[in-house]
Amino acid sequence: MAELTLELVTPEGTVLSEEVEGVSLPTTTGEITVLPGHEPLVVPIKPGEIRIHKKGAREYLVTSGGWVEVTGAIVRVLADTAEHAESIDESRAQEAVKRAQKLKTEAADDVAFADAAAALERALARVRVATKRRRRA
Ligand code: ATP
Repeated sequence: MAELTLELVTPEGTVLSEEVEGVSLPTTTGEITVLPGHEPLVVPIKPGEIRIHKKGAREYLVTSGGWVEVTGAIVRVLADTAEHAESIDESRAQEAVKRAQKLKTEAADDVAFADAAAALERALARVRVATKRRRRA
């Protein structure tokens, strides 16, 4: 089967650059799965799980959002943050949920509210993916 090259980059550096059979991504309009032959695409992604399909294996990451571009056999993900499911610090994410919920209720203006809401989405995505990973393990 033809393969795709997946490049996953954050401001901190390259997280992944590898051949994969497919990748599922949380776009702002719903999850998409990119397989070889997918049409060209540039869409935003939201906080959530990235599932990488490889021969006989799956790899799970969590992202806080960004963009995905599909051109030919190359899938480029430019993410604000991305962590492998196994490296998520779950208690840190749970603390971040509590902090963001408090900041959201105390927000003095729209900007503070939006910042808190975004932090909450990031932290909830981390908790969700870490919880799923524990269940799968
Ligand atoms: P916190 O308040 O816990 O720092 P945050 O949402 O402000 O969370 P981000 O700005 O999204 O954190 O990320 C900052 C860096 O820390 C990124 O490199 C991200 O991958 C990493 N990171 C954030 N939360 C976690 C976590 N729970 N487990 C592992 N890495 C994390």
